[in-house]
Amino acid sequence: MAEDNVRKIKDRLDIVDVVGAYVKLQKAGINYKGRCPFHNEKTPSFFVTPERQIWHCFGCAKGGDMFEFIKEIEGVEFPEVLRILAAKANIQLETFQSRGGDYASKDAKTSLYEICELATKFFEKQFQSAMGKKALAYLQARGLTDETIKDFRLGFAPDDWEALSNFIKLKGYSDKEIVEAGLAIKRDETKGRGNGIYDRFRSRITFPIFDISGQVVGFTGRVFETGDKPIDSGGEAMAKYINTPGTLIYDKSRILYGLSKAKLEIKRADQCVLVEGNMDALMSYQAGVQNVVATSGTALTPHHLRLLQRYTKNLGFCFDTDQAGAAATRRGIGLALAGQFNIKVLELRDPECKDPADFVKKYGRIWVDTVATAKPVIDYYFDRARASFNPTSAESKKSIIAAVAPFVKRLQSEVEYAHWMNQLASLLRIPEQSVNADVVAFKDDLDQYIEQNKEAGSAPTSSVPVAPTPPRELPDMMNEALLSVVLKNPAVFREELAAVPYELLHPQTAETIRQISSLPQPFVFADLMARSAQADILPLEFAQLRSQELWKDFTDEQLKAEFYTLLGVMRRRAINARLTELQFDVREAENSKNTIQLASLSREFQELVKQLAISYNPNVKKEIVQKVSQTESSQKEIYQKEAGSSVQKESSQETV
Ligand SMILES: [Zn+2]
Repeated sequence: MAEDNVRKIKDRLDIVDVVGAYVKLQKAGINYKGRCPFHNEKTPSFFVTPERQIWHCFGCAKGGDMFEFIKEIEGVEFPEVLRILAAKANIQLETFQSRGGDYASKDAKTSLYEICELATKFFEKQFQSAMGKKALAYLQARGLTDETIKDFRLGFAPDDWEALSNFIKLKGYSDKEIVEAGLAIKRDETKGRGNGIYDRFRSRITFPIFDISGQVVGFTGRVFETGDKPIDSGGEAMAKYINTPGTLIYDKSRILYGLSKAKLEIKRADQCVLVEGNMDALMSYQAGVQNVVATSGTALTPHHLRLLQRYTKNLGFCFDTDQAGAAATRRGIGLALAGQFNIKVLELRDPECKDPADFVKKYGRIWVDTVATAKPVIDYYFDRARASFNPTSAESKKSIIAAVAPFVKRLQSEVEYAHWMNQLASLLRIPEQSVNADVVAFKDDLDQYIEQNKEAGSAPTSSVPVAPTPPRELPDMMNEALLSVVLKNPAVFREELAAVPYELLHPQTAETIRQISSLPQPFVFADLMARSAQADILPLEFAQLRSQELWKDFTDEQLKAEFYTLLGVMRRRAINARLTELQFDVREAENSKNTIQLASLSREFQELVKQLAISYNPNVKKEIVQKVSQTESSQKEIYQKEAGSSVQKESSQETV
C-alpha cells in the first residue's frame, strides 16, 4: 500500500540527501541551510533538519517531508513522487504497479527509456571520432561552451546506417524495441534493400529531449554545414532537422525542450521565456537566462500550458517579427491568454540577429537585460498595429481592431479590458461602445481551436493512489514566528502566556500555547510533541526549527521584545481586517438610511482607528498586556478589557 511504501522510502532515504540533490546545502549547527528553490532570495532562509527529517523555508513558509519536497520541486503529483523516491531508494513498488494493471506497457516503457539512455551515451562518445570532432567544432563556432554541450548531453550520430542499432542490439535489445524507441526504421523489403532495420539519425548533431524528470525520451537531429550542401551517404538531400516520431514515451505536444533543466529557475523567477529552437534555449541558458524552454518548432499546445502552469503563470514569448504575425504564434498566445497566463513579448531589435541564438552569440550577457524589457502582449500588438496602419481611414481602423481584438477579447481581467477599450477608442477616435461592439463581434479561428483543445486537454481520471495525508490550512508565518519565540524559552513568557489574546491566534497555535502553559517545568519539547495531535506536529516542528535557527543568540529581553512586536503586528492585522469589513457595513447602513446602526458603526470605526494608533507604540502595548495579566479575571474578560476599556484608558493617557 501507499503508506507502506512511504514508510519504507523514509527509512531508506535521508532528507538531507534528497533535498541536497536540488539545493546546495550548508551545515549550520544541527541543521542545514541553503537558498530556497521556491522563492527568490539572496540570504538562505531554507532549512533542512536531519533530526526531524523535515524542510522548511522561513521566507515563503513552504515546508514538509521529503515527499512534499519532491512534489513541490518536480511539480508532480503523489504517484510520480512515489516513483521518483522509490527509484532513489531502490525499492520496487510492487503493490503500486500491479494495481495499475498495465504491467506490459510499463515494461515496454522501461526498455524504451533504457534504449534512449544508451543512445545518448553512444552519441556523446562520437564527438571523439574524426567527423564528430567537426560537429563539435561547429557547435563551438555557433557559440556553445563545452559545459553547455556536456550539460545538455549533445552528441553526434555517425554517418552510418547501422552503427547505433548494432550497438544497442549488443546490449540485448531487439530490432522491434529499437524501432519502437524511434531510433531506427524498418527496412522496406519491397525496395530490395534487404530486411532488418537502419538508423534514423545519421551524420547529425543530436539533441536529446528530456522529459520533466530529466530522462531522455527522444532526439532532435540537426545537419551541420561543412561547406557542401548536406547530403546523406545515400545521395539524398537531407532535412535540416529530424525528430524522434511519437513513441510510448515521447509525445511532442507534451514536451518542452529544456524544461527539466529550467523548471527550478522558472519557479524562482516566476516566469518562463519561450523560444523557438533548441539552440536558442541553449544559448539563452548559457547567457544567464535559465528560465527558458523551446517549443522546438511546434505550436504551443494546451498540454504545454498545463505543464508550465505548475511552475508559473507568466510567459515571455520571444520570436522574430515575421513569426509574431504567424497564425501558430497567435494561436499559442490566444490559448495562453484564455488559460489566464500573463504574457509578455520580446522583440529582437537587431536585424542581423534572426533568433535568440544569434543575439546571444553577438551580445552575450546583454541578453539578460534584453529579456527584462519584454512588453505586455497587447502593448506589443497595439504598437505594431499603430506603426503599420494610419488610423484615419475606415479600412485601417478595421485592420487595427483585427490586429488587437483576438488578444483583447480574451483578457480575463475587466480592468485590463476596460483599459484597452479606452486606448483603442482614443486611437481610432471612435466611441468606446462601438469599439467594444466590434471587438466582441470579432471572429477568429481561435475560439474553435480553444474549444477543440479543451477536450483533448482534460485531465486524465485514472485511479491513481492519493497522498496519505490530505493538505490542510496551516497556521501562517506570524503564528509560527510567535510560537517559535515562545518555544525558545517558555519560562520567560509565563506571565505573557497567561494573558495572551487567543483570538488573534490561529486555533492550532492557541491550542499549542495552552499546552505549553500547562506543561510542568522545565519545558521539554518532546513532551509537547507527545501531547500534540498528529495534525499539529508539522506546524510545531516548523516553529521549533525556526526557534533553533532564528533566536539562537537572543537574550530573554530580546525574546520578549520580539514577542510584543509580533503580537502588535497580529493585532494591527486583525484591526485592519475589521476596519475593511466596517467600510462595507457603513455603506450598507448608509444605503438603508439606518442612522442608529450608522452611529454605532462609526463609533466602532473610530475606536479601532484609535487602537491602531496605540498599537504602534510598543511601550504602551507592553503595559497593557502586563496590567491585564495582573488582574485575576478569566481569559475572556482579560481579552475584552484589552480590546476595550483598558485600551481606551491608555489612549486617553497618551493624548494628555
Ligand atoms: Zn522559500
